[in-house]
Amino acid sequence: MNVNANHAEPAEKKGLNFIEQIVATDLANNKNGGRLQTRFPPEPNGYLHIGHAKAICMDFGVAHKFGGVCNLRFDDTNPQKEDTEYVEAIKQDIEWLGFKWGNIYHASDYFDQLYQFAIRLIEEGKAYVDEQTSEQIAQQKGTPTQPGQDSPYRNRPVEESLELFQKMNTGEVPEGAMVLRAKIDMANPNMHFRDPIIYRIINKEHHRTGSKWKVYPMYDFAHGQSDYFEGVTHSICTLEFVPHRPLYDYFIDELKEGRDLDDNRPRQYEFNRLNLTYTVMSKRKLLALVQEGLVDGWDDPRMPTVCGLRRRGYSPEAVRKFINMIGYTKFDALNDYAMLEAAAREDLNARALRVSAVLNPVKLIITNYPEGQTEEMEAQNNPEYEADGKHTVTFSRELWMERDDFMEDAPKKFFRMVPGKEVRLKNAYIVKCTGCKKDDEGNVVEVYAEYDPTSRSGLEGANRKVKGTLHWLSTAHCLPAEVRLYDRLFTVENPSADPRDFRELLNPDSLKVLTNCYVEPFAVNNDTCNRYLQFQRTGYFTLDTHSTPDHLIFNKTVGLKDSWKA
Ligand code: ATP
Ligand code: MG
Repeated sequence: MNVNANHAEPAEKKGLNFIEQIVATDLANNKNGGRLQTRFPPEPNGYLHIGHAKAICMDFGVAHKFGGVCNLRFDDTNPQKEDTEYVEAIKQDIEWLGFKWGNIYHASDYFDQLYQFAIRLIEEGKAYVDEQTSEQIAQQKGTPTQPGQDSPYRNRPVEESLELFQKMNTGEVPEGAMVLRAKIDMANPNMHFRDPIIYRIINKEHHRTGSKWKVYPMYDFAHGQSDYFEGVTHSICTLEFVPHRPLYDYFIDELKEGRDLDDNRPRQYEFNRLNLTYTVMSKRKLLALVQEGLVDGWDDPRMPTVCGLRRRGYSPEAVRKFINMIGYTKFDALNDYAMLEAAAREDLNARALRVSAVLNPVKLIITNYPEGQTEEMEAQNNPEYEADGKHTVTFSRELWMERDDFMEDAPKKFFRMVPGKEVRLKNAYIVKCTGCKKDDEGNVVEVYAEYDPTSRSGLEGANRKVKGTLHWLSTAHCLPAEVRLYDRLFTVENPSADPRDFRELLNPDSLKVLTNCYVEPFAVNNDTCNRYLQFQRTGYFTLDTHSTPDHLIFNKTVGLKDSWKA
């Protein structure tokens, strides 16, 4: 898609992040013919996490903002770990986040071109087949201050390398026995230039190219070239790729053979990756959690994956809001998980349907309310938005209330159910507690109260002031449910920086299952189609993906207030 330079916003315009400013300037200068093309390049070896969401918001966001296009490219150069399951999940998550790609490409689309390019480099004396082990090659790499040592195969004849590289691809050569290396500079201060490995043998079916190839290009030999083949203008990635950038440019220069060097080439820009407290973002570790059954799959609501957040009850807007809050910089940092929750809270406050649920129930009998009588009470769907309308909740003589809302001997400031004191039942009546019944062990089994018939919510003059409003459910007009409460997945702030194995750092109390809960029917049977719920006074919740009409399961998304603060 072509972008007229006149449409570009001036770079100094406030509110643009540093990458957007670069893009704006490039467009204004008509770089790459005024085109803007980005890509999001996941390797299909796992599910997307919130870190990827940050990259997605950048790659798609900047293209959208300046009228360019963002493509989805699967960086599928390692068949050992890749699978179509991941391909499908990645597409679903990007769409859920609210982004649209232009085209879908695959690094494997370019295997022929890359192979031909490698052959050309060999012919030009710029690549050679090395028969050393990876350990030997690593030993010869040197250090940033000490030059490396030449491989004994470095100066082998071109013909020999050509023949061996072709053999590497026929299956005759076992994995690890040979690699193809670019012949650049074993003394370069940038270690990536010390004859990097550009092809290795992998004897595994590829999910797209089957058994056609035995040699697969390394990241540095595939990524920049793929960008170039596709016409990417701004190749945006994370800071760990800064030292790779000169090599990225080197291979593109070689590929272009000196043609048109200053324009029409992709350029790499880097921003800080997202690191979050109390979780891990490494796909290897997330995969281990899934494979070892330490969590309930990639979409376990405690996982930092996009599908985990979705199942937990986050909206795509909440995820994007969080990404916006943290912004893009050139310095790595650790972001507070509480900020993600704050974003969710802010989002859900505006979005969630208010319903009642009792998570730790005790019976409340309104002793002066006629047996068999019921009343439909009006409840607002969202007091923040009048237009969201109302629904009704059935009131009766026998109710559920939260066990924690009753105390026999209460401190002065406990404005809830206390014998002799008045409290309002939300959307219903003011009641005065008259006592309770206990079992032999002293546990409260029933709470008693009397209602004031003149105090019905909404009635003229019913607004007598009482401190404290409690939620409740009519025992005959509610549904049983299981409720799952979640805490941090890890016990330490930065598990990745901890010397212990990450499995030892898992929080054993990260999941608490409450099996004896009740919810009002409107939470599941309503015409608002709103999957985002607020259980009043308790927190934000959503129906779990494994919930059935016979066994309702709700996940707690986040509490109403930040409970982690001291
Ligand atoms: P791997 O360890 O498999 O390389 P990865 O997390 O780098 O995992 P990719 O599929 O290569 O996964 O990532 C796709 C894109 O997402 C890359 O451009 C990468 O820079 C970006 N990305 C990955 N993790 C983060 C993160 N934590 N924050 C921001 N961007 C990220
Ligand atoms: Mg990667």
